[in-house]
Formats: sequence, structure tokens, C-alpha cells
Amino acid sequence: MLRTHYSSGLDSKQDGKTVTVAGWVHKVRDIGKVKFLIIHDKDGEIQITAKKGECPDDVFREISSISRESVVSVKGTAKANKSAPAGMEVFPENLTIVSKAQAPLPLETDPSIKSELDTRLNYRFIDLRRKEVAAIFRIKDVVHRSFIKYMEQEGFTLMHVPCVVAAATEGGTNLFPVSYFENEAFLSQSPQLYKQMLMASGVDKVLIVTPVFRAEEHNTTRHLNESTQMDIEVAFVEDEQDALNYMQDSINFIYKNVQHLCKPQLDVLGRKLVMPDQKFKQVTYDQALELLKKDDIKIKWGDDLTPEAERVLCKKFNPVIVTKWPTDVRAFYCMHEPGNEKVCRGYDLLIDGMEISSGAQRLHDYEKLVAEMKRRKMNPKSFSFYLDAFRFGCPPHAGWSFGLERLTMVICGLKNIREAMLWPRDRTRITP
Ligand code: ATP
Ligand code: MG
Repeated sequence: MLRTHYSSGLDSKQDGKTVTVAGWVHKVRDIGKVKFLIIHDKDGEIQITAKKGECPDDVFREISSISRESVVSVKGTAKANKSAPAGMEVFPENLTIVSKAQAPLPLETDPSIKSELDTRLNYRFIDLRRKEVAAIFRIKDVVHRSFIKYMEQEGFTLMHVPCVVAAATEGGTNLFPVSYFENEAFLSQSPQLYKQMLMASGVDKVLIVTPVFRAEEHNTTRHLNESTQMDIEVAFVEDEQDALNYMQDSINFIYKNVQHLCKPQLDVLGRKLVMPDQKFKQVTYDQALELLKKDDIKIKWGDDLTPEAERVLCKKFNPVIVTKWPTDVRAFYCMHEPGNEKVCRGYDLLIDGMEISSGAQRLHDYEKLVAEMKRRKMNPKSFSFYLDAFRFGCPPHAGWSFGLERLTMVICGLKNIREAMLWPRDRTRITP
């Protein structure tokens, strides 16, 4: 191997021992008789200290000529030194340039130099060598895994559903068409219909993590055209509260895990994570409108909450779940409130002023579903594959979906969702 130790593995136990370290050249400092080579690997930085006369001449000479961001492997003696990164330095005996970086670099890796997001995304592989960028993706990893772990503990089964579909989930038009042999197909905007069909299968508790594609033209700091959804659906619910409990408890679990496992990453980002309350405040849509009115924000009954309204609500309660939405702003499959068809059992979770999740208890009665589709001028025939699931025994069910990039964005305190996607797809960006 080109490496025996990562930077994180160099500690006083290695004092005086021979080690081989490897990574990218961050900088070279030449003060005449001593040269310092700072290399970085996935865990941090390592100082290589070359003293004239002590280290082999060829190594001493070569150090000054290595271009920044070249990949090197260095064999030498580890020594404790309080002023070196992590308290250890390496005195080189052998240095190999594994891969030479061309100069000039298209993107700076020095954290004191700010680069445009566009340039950073064009050279994402270099961008990721910066520890504050790598920190975001480690946190995203922990968010993703924690979600799966929590749901597994709760008895949910992780399943996979198609991304190429024939019909729109919401009956909407925000779909990317794909040519599929002799048919037209679309990239899926949500696993919704499939996870509901699974509720008719006896699996009862399902979780799905999948890319979703939305051909929305808007170019905002919180929308991507390809994003990652983390979904659940659960059967035999009494009402929407049964699904909301999983929402609240999984968010708590995710935050605790990030706090516990990602302390170095949060520090690098300068982020103090405020833990959510165990129990989230819930307000009905009507109550939300009343609260907003007091702050001079007027939302007409039946309209969606604006981004400003979401921010103001979170100033009052954070996180907050808004329940009992007007039926017409939600998708056709939301269950109506008994005795009031105008209101449905949909809900949204808002954290730090942003929608993180949407969900609902669903209509599970075939006749009601068909009637609702017809009322919305949708053609039940084009959804027959889905409607069939409600004809042969389907229990009451509810579910929701977290946007993984949105959740990563609020946990890391990012201003632009593109920061939370390795290679974001937006209105103009499809490469790299
Ligand atoms: P918004 O109103 O914020 O545009 P939405 O209500 O259209 O979102 P949903 O269909 O409810 O979105 O999707 C479920 C979750 O997926 C959202 O709560 C959000 O966290 C995330 N999400 C939705 N659309 C996007 C997108 N374009 N880019 C990134 N994440 C998204
Ligand atoms: Mg939504």
C-alpha cells in the first residue's frame, strides 16, 4: 500500500516508528535549511519536515519542485511535535510523486480564497478536497444512514421502485420525458404511487430512498431538478398522527446522530446544531393563517404558504408541522377530513424556515379515489395500474417524504441547496 497511516491515525503511539503517509500537497514552506511539506488526506493534514543533511539529498531537493495538489506518498519516521497538525510530524526517508498536478490549478484549495460556486461545481473533485466541503457530504452521509437505521429499528423494509414511469404521480406536468423504445415514458417525480401500492401488498411499513426528477423551470436556492427523497409509508394507521410520530422521532434521531458522529464536521462548518424539541409543535393550516395575519402576512385560504410565510412561522415555532390543509392545494390522493371535503389530512414539516417534508393520510377507498380524480378532471384510466391496488383489499395508510438535500441544507446551515448535492442538476447545469 502507498499508505500505512491516515493523518487521523498518527498519534503518540507512532512516535519514533516508520510510517508511510499519502495525500495531496497542500503547501510547501521553504525556510532554507528546513522545508515543510503539508499534505492532506481525507481526515486532515500531515506535516512532513525535511532537514538539510538529515533527510536524503534527493528528497530534500524534490520537495521544492512538487506542484500543489500533486499526490505524494512519503515514508519516514513519525515524531511527536506539539506545533504540527495533530501533534505529529514525519521526517522523510523516501518520497514518491504518485500523480503530478498540472499548474495552474483551475480551483484554489486554500480556504482563505473564496471561489465562485459555478467554478467549484465545475471542478467538484478539487472542491471536495477542502475540508468544509467534505464536511457537508460526511454529514449528508450520516443523515442518510441515520434515516435508514431509524426506520429499520422501527420495522420498516427498505424497497426499490422504478424511476422510469408511464404516468405522472401528481397528474402534473413537471416531468422530464424520456424516449422508451416505442413509448414515451417519464422520469419519476416521486415514488408515491408505488409506495401506496405496497400498502396493498402486506409489507405494511416501507421506506424508500430514491432520486426524483422535477422539470420545474424555477431556479431557486432550494430547488434542484434532480434531488433525493427519503420516503416512508405505513399501513393500519388510525389517522395522520401515526405517521407524524415517525416523522418527529426520525428527525430527532437524525439530529442526535449528526451531533454525536459529526462533531469535527460541524466545527469545520462553524455550525452549532440546535436540537429540535422532542415533540414538535403542530398548527393547523387555519391556525397558521391566523398567526401569519398578526405579522401582516396575508395568505388567502386555499393558497400554499409562501417561502416568507414559512420563515415567519418558524420564527414562532421551530420545527413546526402544519396540518389539515385545504384539499385543493394538495395532491389528489390525500384523505379528506371526515365531514369536510374541503380540508384534507395533509401535513408539512418546516425547519429553520424551510419545507423539509410533505405527507398525508391517503385515500384508501377505491370509489372515493376515483371520484376525487374525476373531480380534478384526471383520467382514472391512465392510473388503472395504481387504482387496482385499492380494489382488492387496501388498509388505511399514511406517509411522508424528506428531501435529503433540504435536510442536509438546514442541518449544515447552507444558503444554497447546490452545496448539498455533489453534481447538482438545475435549469442550466447538466455537466459535470
Ligand atoms: P416546495 O413547495 O418546497 O417546492 P414540494 O411541496 O413541491 O416542495 P414535495 O412534493 O412535497 O415538494 O416533496 C417532498 C420533499 O422533497 C419536500 O418537502 C422537499 O424537502 C423535497 N423537495 C421537493 N422538491 C424539491 C426540489 N425541487 N429540490 C430539492 N428538494 C425538493
Ligand atoms: Mg410539499
